[in-house]
Amino acid sequence: MDLDWKNLGFDIIKTDYNVRCVFQDGKWGELEVSSDQYLPIHIGATCLHYGQESFEGLKAFTGADGRIRIFRHEENARRMIRSAKGILLAEVPVELFMEAVEKVVLLNKKYIPPYGLGASLYIRPLLIGTGPEVGVRPAKEFTFLVFAMPVGPYFKEGFKPLDIMICRDHDRAAPLGTGHLKVGGNYAASMASISEAHQKGFATAMYLDAKEKKYIDECGPANFFGIKDNTYITPKSDSILPSITNSSLQMLAETFGMKVETRPVPVEELAEFEETGACGTAAVITPFRKVVDIDKDITYMYGDGVNPGPVILKLYETLTGIQNGDIEDTFGWTKILD
Ligand SMILES: *Cc1c(COP(=O)(O)O)cnc(C)c1O
Repeated sequence: MDLDWKNLGFDIIKTDYNVRCVFQDGKWGELEVSSDQYLPIHIGATCLHYGQESFEGLKAFTGADGRIRIFRHEENARRMIRSAKGILLAEVPVELFMEAVEKVVLLNKKYIPPYGLGASLYIRPLLIGTGPEVGVRPAKEFTFLVFAMPVGPYFKEGFKPLDIMICRDHDRAAPLGTGHLKVGGNYAASMASISEAHQKGFATAMYLDAKEKKYIDECGPANFFGIKDNTYITPKSDSILPSITNSSLQMLAETFGMKVETRPVPVEELAEFEETGACGTAAVITPFRKVVDIDKDITYMYGDGVNPGPVILKLYETLTGIQNGDIEDTFGWTKILD
């Protein structure tokens, strides 16, 4: 492989194979292997017109022992079923999902980055309505596909605290909308505000609850958490996507002897946290240096401005250590593939 493993970003890179499966006449067909990066699609497909689509994101790692580990893919399978129920996609059975993910990883083995660089194979399952409908109704045909690509650490600057902007003039999701599902429509709804945050020099936008604008919702495409008084605190809201990284960090925090609270988190509580950050598969944890509330002219500051705080550092090192096999996985989170 002539890939520059040390300088991978978070970009599409062609790998050799993807796998696909079509749901027709009420049932899933065979899982097929393809080396084509394109998908022939009916111009009336519901995913194109009405956003009838859901996706997932997860990673596989090479350990120091040279073995391949996939992290919690059964959880992604279950979440994609919840998304499917929410927007009337055909549900992909857990076994089919896991088989497809494992197959893509093994077929693209040579693209899994070597141990020790913070890089991984990013796996992207996708479930879309491919049957044509011009009226607003669910498709009768669906396509499930999984592809993968090697990625580096999400932030090229490395594991460093970043600045975040509170967004008060956009919402990502409505209280009884689709924010709790991993569907493309939420991402389309967030693009303008995230791009505005980038233009103003921030890493991303922090959304507040759409109804009252009192509580913290999500941070771009990641969950928020804060640390104070030996407690890991993360917002509870019906419009937040339940992050698998967040649930893993909560379990780790408990093993560190910390308390865990899942509850509404008022914006003003940002002043009380000792450390804050966002979490998700892509970046694992993004520690915050500042959270700026432009409209209220308040800046919340964390740490020394250069290094992540001690709790975030320990959470990050433990989680990534379990993922690549450096730390024993007592939770049964990883599946070793070879
Ligand atoms: C995928 C996603 C996350 C992170 O979830 P993980 O399971 O940790 O990758 C957080 N928020 C949103 C909106 C997401 O789509």
